This record gives sequence, structure tokens and C-alpha cells, in this order.
Amino acid sequence: MYAKVIVDVASGQTNRAFDYRIPEELQRLILPGMRVIVPFGSRKIQGFVWDITEESDLDRVKPISEMLDPYPVLTKEMLELGDWLAEETVCFLITALQSMIPSAIRAKPKKILQLRTEKHYLPPALQAVFAGKKAVDWAELPNEKGIFSLIKQSVEKGEIEVEYLVKDKTKKKTIQSIRINPKYQGAAFADILGNRAKKQIAVMEWLSDNYPDKSVPIKDLTETLQTSKQTIQQLISKEILLLESIEEYRDPYSDRSFSPAPRPELTGQQRNVLGPVRSAIDSNQDTTFLLRGVTGSGKTEVYLQAIEKVLAKDEEAIVLVPEISLTPQMVERFKGRFGSKVAVLHSALSAGEKYDEWRKIHRKEVQVAVGARSAVFAPFEKLGLIIIDEEHEGSYKQEDHPRYHARQIAIWRGSYHNCPIILGSATPSLESYARAKRGVYKLLELKDRVNKTAMPEVNVIDMREELKKGNRSVFSELLLQKLRERLECNEQAVLFLNRRGYSTFVMCRNCGYTAECPHCEITLTYHHTQRKLKCHYCGYEEPMLTTCPACESEHIRFFGTGTQKVEEELTKLLPEARVIRMDVDTTSKKGSHEKLLQAFGRGEADILLGTQMIAKGLDFPRITLAGVLAADTMLHLPDFRASERTFQLLTQVSGRAGRDKLTGEVVIQTYTPDHYSIQHAKTHNYESFSLEEMGHRKRSGYPPYYYLALVTISNEDAVKVMQTAEKIAAFLRESFSPETKVLGPTVSPIARIKDRYRYQCMIKYRNEPNLTYVLNQIASRYQKEMATDKLFISIDMNPQMFM
Ligand code: ADP
Ligand code: ZN
Ligand code: ZN
Repeated sequence: MYAKVIVDVASGQTNRAFDYRIPEELQRLILPGMRVIVPFGSRKIQGFVWDITEESDLDRVKPISEMLDPYPVLTKEMLELGDWLAEETVCFLITALQSMIPSAIRAKPKKILQLRTEKHYLPPALQAVFAGKKAVDWAELPNEKGIFSLIKQSVEKGEIEVEYLVKDKTKKKTIQSIRINPKYQGAAFADILGNRAKKQIAVMEWLSDNYPDKSVPIKDLTETLQTSKQTIQQLISKEILLLESIEEYRDPYSDRSFSPAPRPELTGQQRNVLGPVRSAIDSNQDTTFLLRGVTGSGKTEVYLQAIEKVLAKDEEAIVLVPEISLTPQMVERFKGRFGSKVAVLHSALSAGEKYDEWRKIHRKEVQVAVGARSAVFAPFEKLGLIIIDEEHEGSYKQEDHPRYHARQIAIWRGSYHNCPIILGSATPSLESYARAKRGVYKLLELKDRVNKTAMPEVNVIDMREELKKGNRSVFSELLLQKLRERLECNEQAVLFLNRRGYSTFVMCRNCGYTAECPHCEITLTYHHTQRKLKCHYCGYEEPMLTTCPACESEHIRFFGTGTQKVEEELTKLLPEARVIRMDVDTTSKKGSHEKLLQAFGRGEADILLGTQMIAKGLDFPRITLAGVLAADTMLHLPDFRASERTFQLLTQVSGRAGRDKLTGEVVIQTYTPDHYSIQHAKTHNYESFSLEEMGHRKRSGYPPYYYLALVTISNEDAVKVMQTAEKIAAFLRESFSPETKVLGPTVSPIARIKDRYRYQCMIKYRNEPNLTYVLNQIASRYQKEMATDKLFISIDMNPQMFM
């Protein structure tokens, strides 16, 4: 028997399966989806078993050195998905496969066999292996025939378990526990131990009364009974008590209790929306629903009740939310409803915690996975529903290989499992909305807020007028007045600023010089706490300038406004206001995000001031004012989605105000009050915004009228990069049909990063059957240069960023 193995080397030459002979003792044990160690050149490396065959075309085939998993880490579905993903996103197969498993088992792990039962239950050969030990290093297993087969059987019975130790961090936590040896259950301990062993008798009697057949953590025992470890040790050595180590998951939410949330009666609109979803779940249809519901319309409640249906069918559900809105409030709603059936996957978890959550899914201990983008790969095998909340969010696109969009994976898995998808948003992406209009997706709508509260009134303030009136503050008169009113009647406000840090860029007021990174063509950002200028792309830093390097003037200042600066101004203007600031600086510590929000929820502050992270998912009844300090910051980015993103953001922020019984108000400050993104956000009119934006997209040939693919070429040699870019553009032009447009090569918006010059070609197409084939060809054509000349070619299908 032979195994086709995808080896763990991401390169053009190794982007195929290699044949390896399956040694006698591993035959019938090795399955597709398992990881193995194989000889490769002079080294030994890891790989995934792709397929098992009876024959090989090669004459001399090396044997597999080692089997890493007793069961596959990748399901058959994942292997198929990986194949498709590699082709679709133009990446190496190994890269696609690696992206589907947690990082803890992606690295080269140390593998341990852990005993989970009493030794004497094991077959004799394994008893010998575990002689005097609870755990055995896989690498030190005896080279005996049949040993792997025995291990596999014992693993299946739960007698032993395979663990991966990546670093100590990811080691599973265990609790030392004891239980009464079944042989001694109900025994008369005074007779066995003798009357003088009073302490031991007390322990045994207490255990017989309270835990006759369960295990108890030793710590609990010593604390409750005030007994010593020594006493327990004596009982263990007499084999009256059995020692066990019980695994404890590192549960990041373990210190919180989730009260079961009441399940409200659905509103008429919610019922209308849930109906078609439930029948798709019932009849196993892979319909993609686009649920457009205004903020506060009860979308999340619809998700929850759809999942109930899935669980009733004994199936599983995945819920994706943007990283940024994976707030405790959101998690609480799912944990509150479904309790321990929920696994939560997000990037703030340590590698070990993520691995634990993933294993709960892999072992079928949970039925619901809530998480950010990569949770779309949750290894469920009976998927009944996939939900993508805030489906328009840019963070669903991975900006590194494989450059996939979670929506695309969800739809693929939906058709594999015959299950529906819900894409939910108050402001769907134009691509999704256009598909819903054409009937590719099924459109469902929630037009009103749950409590029939009106949408908040939006005031747009022209900041140019403020300046004319002599107001140089970042706060307009109206916003300040409304903040004062909130303080008086003890209501809360959120203030949103689309910037981070104390200040942004540095400019000379005398000559206009701006400080730029010497390696990347991008302005440096001023960081107040360290008094340094930093590059956000390469990490370069230098001390803050005191004089201008160009004209030696001392009038060199930082420009733009950061949250910290706004906070200072706020405390000056409204000294009585209690302010909580949330930005990257105040939330970098683990759990601080949560603590700040809880404090705000308890009413310990009047104003929540923050960046993007406060725009989503907040649901506090006392917020009645939402302020946007500078609505234009995103409007002028070199990106065709700038208007759409601005509209979405303003709508999200407005959605924070007046969600309960109190009516809300919004103040938007801007230098371009007449822009249609701002005007339509003012009237809460998604429909008319999308109509107008679609007109712009049609005229300039952007999605959803055309699809895009972006090819970026970079190299340290400016001439070489230009020449290669020319050649690639020419090759693309001759390979595609005439309807497909190839734009460029042009210099990328950021012309240089880390000393590498960057050029790009944009492909605009509607129907190009050759597309992925041709793009994959580029990757293989330039293989050699990419390996030796440090030429980088990156291919991004449906790009979200154009830098
Ligand atoms: P969305 O996700 O559309 O912004 P939510 O699901 O967060 O809306 O609902 C807004 C608020 O209304 C939440 O506080 C939620 O608990 C509440 N809610 C949702 N559905 C109902 C219902 N049918 N009856 C009463 N309250 C509801
Ligand atoms: Zn100057
Ligand atoms: Zn730089």
C-alpha cells in the first residue's frame, strides 16, 4: 500500500502529492487526513496523507517514517475543501490545508500518549509500555509489531489519549483527582484500615457518603476535610483510592457564569424571516439567505432560534461574527442560550486555549461554534446551518495566504452538507445585495426595530462652518450641548473616532515636510507614550523630531486627532463627565476590553469614547446619543469601497443609540456634509444609498458589475520589478478573452514596503473561465525567480484592500 502525501514545504516544486510506501505495521491504520513524518531529501518533514493507493508509478518509494495522529485531523470534507481553496485562491495546497487546523498542531509538536484509565484495563503489550508511567513519549515507543494497532484501539475506547505538546503553554491542564477503587466500594473501612488509622477512615467515610463512585479533585478533599495530602497518599499506596488526572479545559470564560437568557416571543417580522430558514433546515436545502435588518431589529434572536431548530435535528451550527464584535455581550447571548454546547474561537485566545476549543468540536462535545473568520473551518461533520453576522465586514477576507473570504467557504460547505447559510447585516455588501436582487441569494428583511422605537434622528454638522464661527475644538457646539443634556438626565453617550493613538502624522507647518518611513512609502505615526515615530508596515521607529529636517524650522507638529487627545479636550470642556476610552492602547491587555465594557454597562461612566471597536455589537439601553467626530476620514482613501464603508460605519454607529425604550439621537461631524454616503446615512436609507452607489460602480466598472483580481509584484530591484510586471501584464492580456480588462502595471498605492518596490496589475472580468488556470500558471512560471531572486508575486482574488 502507498500513501500520497502533501509535504509541509510551501513551494512550487513541492505543490503536489508525493508517494510513500506504508510500512507493514502501519497498514490499514493510516488514513487520509492524518499527519505523518516522511523522509524528504536528507531531512524528515511533516505532511498530510492525501490518499491511499495500492500501487505507485515509481520504482523506488521510500517508506513513511512515522504516523503522527491516531485519527485524521482533517476530515474528507476538509481535504476536498483544501483542494478547491488552493485552486480558487491561487495558493499552495499545503498552505490551504494548514489554514484549517489550529496553530498548536500546525507546528512540529512533541507527541505524548496519556493514560486515561487504570493500567490493568490495557492489553498486556501496552501495560508494559506504561509500566510505572502515566504518560509516554511517542518517540520512545518500542518498535514492536502491532503496537500502533493496539494504540489505535485503546484510543478509540478512550483508554489512552494522544496529546500534542507544542510549548508548555499549550499543554493540557489536568487536575489531580481520586476515586474509591471499585473493589472497596461499600467496604467497612475500620476493619480494613484498623481502628488507629482515624484520619484515613474519616476520609473514606466522607467519600463513601458523598462520592461513592465519582472522582473528586484532591484539592477539594483537603480543603473540605482539613486533611493532609499525606493521608490521601497513604490511601493511594494501599490502592484503596485510585489516582486520576482529570483534564480541565482552559476555558477563557470559566470565571463567568452565563445566566440562561429568557427566550422572547418572536415579533411578527421575526417569525416571517425565521419561517423560510427553518424550512430550509428541515428539508436540507443549501439556500443562501441574505437577512437585511436595521440595527436593533432582532437579527441575533433570529439566529438563536434558527440554531435551536438545528440542534433539535441533532445537527451543528457555525456562527461567524467579526473579530471586533466578538464582544463578551455577543458571546454571552450564545452561551446564555446554549450553555456548554458552545465553543468560542477568537484570536485573543492563546494557542492552547484555541486548541482546546477546537478539540471540543473535533470530539463532538459541542454543537455550536461561535468565532471570527477562521471558525468557518470548524470541523463539524453534521453541519445544519452557517451564519455570518455583519456579512459586509472586511475582516472576513483573510489578507494572507490563503486569501479566502469566509462567505465563499461557508457557501461551499453549505452545498457539501446541504444546509442553509444566513448572511446578516443592516448594511449588506453591494455584492451580496446585488446577488439577492437577482435571486441568487434569498432576501429576507426586518424593517423595524424590535420595540418599534423610531430610528434615531441624525444631525449632520458642517465642521467648516464651525471653524468660520471661530470654534477650533474637535467638538461642534451642538454635540457639546447634547452631551451636556445627557449628563443632566443621567443617560449615556458613545463618541466614535476613526483613528488610533495620540496623534497621527507629523508635518512641518513652515515647509510642509512630512515624516516618512525610509523603507516604505508611508507616513510615520506619532506615538505619544514613547514619544516616537513609528511605521505601521515594517515597525521602523525613530525619536520624535524637534526641528524639520528639510527647513530646520521648529514648527514641526503632529497632525490629526487621536482618542487620547480628544479625551483630554473632553475633560477640559466637560470636567464633570466620566469618560471611558477604548482604543488599541487601553484594550491591549487581555480581558481589558471586557472590563471596560462591563463598567460602562454598570453605568460607571457617562461617555464611551473609542475607535472602530465600539461601533459594533454594543447593546446598552441607556445610550441615547451617538457622536461621530470625523466622518470623512475613510471617505478619501484610494479604494472604490470608501463610500460604502463610510455609509456602513455611520449606520453602525447610529445603531448604538436608542436601542431600548429611550429614543436616540446621532450627531455626525463632517467636512463634506453633502456627500451621498452621509446624506443617506442621515435618512437611514440603505436602499437609496445602494442605488446611487450602484450607479457609480456601473460607470467605473467595479464590483458587483465586474469581478476583480489583483496581482502585486515586488522586488528590491526597481528595474527588475517593472520588467517582470510588464511581462506578466502582457501574458495576462494574451491569455484572457477580449472582454476581460487588464489594467497596469502601475505602481501600487504604497510604492515600497520593507525596501521592496511594488507594482500591480488589476484584472476586471465578468466571465473568464480561464481565470484561475491562468493565474496558477503565473505562479508556476515564475517559480524559479521567486525562489532565487526574492521576487514576490501575490495574487488576490476579490481584493478588499488595494494598498
Ligand atoms: P440586531 O442583531 O438586529 O441588532 P438584536 O438581536 O441585538 O438586534 O435585538 C435588539 C434587542 O432586542 C436586544 O436587546 C434583544 O434582546 C431584543 N429582542 C430581540 N428580539 C426580541 C423579541 N422578539 N422580543 C423582545 N425583545 C427582543
Ligand atoms: Zn520644514
Ligand atoms: Zn516602514
